[in-house]
Amino acid sequence: MALRDDIEQVALATNDCKSNTDVYFTRLASYITVLASRKGFFAQLLARTVLLDASRSLTLVMYSDEVVPGNVLAPDNQRKSFLVYASFKEFNEWLSLAEAWLPVTVLRTKTLDVILGGLSAVMRALIAFLQDQFCLTSGIAFAVDNITYLLHVQKEFLFLKDEAAMKRMLGVKGAQGMKPCFKCKNVLYALANSQARDPYFTTVAEHRAQRFDPNTDADVEVVMQHLQTQKEILNNKQFEELQTLSGFKLVEQGLLSDPVSRATVKLNNCLYDPMHVYLSSGLLNVELKLFFDRLAKTTALSWSDFEKMACASWTVSSCIGGSSASERKNAARGRLMQKTDHYKGSASDLLTLLPLLLFFLHHIVRPAHGHLINETSSLLALVLAIRLVYGAKRTMTLDSAKLLMHQQEHLLYFCKAYGADVCRPKHHFQFHIGQQFEQHGLLLDCFTCERKNAEFKNSVAPHIKRLSGFEASALRSLLQRQLVHDSDAVSHLTSGFCGQTQPSVELASKLGVPGVVLGTSLHIERARVGLGCLRIFVASRRAFLVTAVLFSQETYYLVGDLFSLVSEELDFSYSFWAVETTSLIVPAKDAIATGLHMLFLTYLVFPVAVSVICLLL
Ligand SMILES: [Zn+2]
Repeated sequence: MALRDDIEQVALATNDCKSNTDVYFTRLASYITVLASRKGFFAQLLARTVLLDASRSLTLVMYSDEVVPGNVLAPDNQRKSFLVYASFKEFNEWLSLAEAWLPVTVLRTKTLDVILGGLSAVMRALIAFLQDQFCLTSGIAFAVDNITYLLHVQKEFLFLKDEAAMKRMLGVKGAQGMKPCFKCKNVLYALANSQARDPYFTTVAEHRAQRFDPNTDADVEVVMQHLQTQKEILNNKQFEELQTLSGFKLVEQGLLSDPVSRATVKLNNCLYDPMHVYLSSGLLNVELKLFFDRLAKTTALSWSDFEKMACASWTVSSCIGGSSASERKNAARGRLMQKTDHYKGSASDLLTLLPLLLFFLHHIVRPAHGHLINETSSLLALVLAIRLVYGAKRTMTLDSAKLLMHQQEHLLYFCKAYGADVCRPKHHFQFHIGQQFEQHGLLLDCFTCERKNAEFKNSVAPHIKRLSGFEASALRSLLQRQLVHDSDAVSHLTSGFCGQTQPSVELASKLGVPGVVLGTSLHIERARVGLGCLRIFVASRRAFLVTAVLFSQETYYLVGDLFSLVSEELDFSYSFWAVETTSLIVPAKDAIATGLHMLFLTYLVFPVAVSVICLLL
């Protein structure tokens, strides 16, 4: 099928109600069959996922965000666009790869501004279009390696966006309303005098999660129907007040204005993004600035001391989640905290700093500066909550009770340190993250798609000179590029050496097996492991530091040293370890699975002395 046929042109009404404007959607079902015919990454991943349970329907996840080409000094507002990508929830940990997400639409903000109902109307049309594409009773057939699979997709999709985009999609009042959280009925910015005596209402500074009264889909139905009837009765001012009180807006042509669309968009399927809540103009960005300002004002310590500590010599795992010395230096540079009311680094910079922050707070600030107990406890609890959330992204498990404990402790101490009136809606939104994990069984965030947005920003948008036809050209370009990436990404599904290798006669004779090849690292499916990689097994309180990889008799093995934990730390951010056994050899597939600790003692080979103190991420 020609790629040209994979885009649908859809006409939407404009604000003046006199004309239409065209938007372009990927015919996702056809595009998936194109991907399947090329036997690339997406089709193989989809085939595996469908194979796991052929009777199960998959859940489509839609991500969208606004992307501004150009740079901070010269943003290209003419090409500023909303991008939507889609994938399937059941891909689980594979969702962290950009190739698992398919481009669905590109829409210039200027075009969006003239569409009646704005983003909400576009999403309504897009959801209906995709439902038509996928929800065929017989499913979508695609073939990989001569086997035909049937893809069934659920009628209800998941939605992942930052708060601003979610607000625009749903037509909720958000920052302009009294109720900043569309998932709760009784959480307000601040209590008016009349509400102060009513125990039902609470604010974004509330840490007792049992106080929150959740909005249900039935509640939204009642609110929307009420707004629809009152619109006819009230004058503009009164109606505006009613919308502010309810937290919802009546958007003409919008998603929630239509009973059919309302029935398929469930509140529980609209997800708060942990990255935006915590790390991207998030709670940690703001609190870091508050904390270090207070530290500098009341002690001899400041951000430059933290910067020096971050740039010191640490031993860090080279696995996913590890950081290099230059990344730590970059994330801690002083400029990110100057002339600003929040830390200006990226979400990745903040993740790099987390273990260092724990060390700094726990060992340097807390023992010497008791007067900052509230500030230190607040920041410590926040960092621990974020580490738990981002650990869940890798392990696919989350201790929700522990997360709630850290979140409550954080908010309690934050209010004591800085005052309840400094709390923002994000202080409340974080309480929904554990709930979302329990409902959907995985942690979804915007990291991957934000990375993917760079392609539109840097390689697609600047090269399309004409604005007429920009959206269709940009979408086609993204789809074409996706095909190229899709072929390259097949390597994620296989195992193999990275870098140089050499045969080792000595090892072959020690192991008593023929044909041993030695290397420094390899990729096993989506994981890359090799020299310097460290895996920690919390249950057995042991760690495995990889020193080499080897291949023999059709199997990859990791060579490494086993360490046991000798410190009692808050968590495994940084910890002190002693060598227990050296030069173990374990099958690589077992080593990347959880539960490796069971295998350690089985594979002892020969001893080499190593010692290490690790900063673990
Ligand atoms: Zn809420």
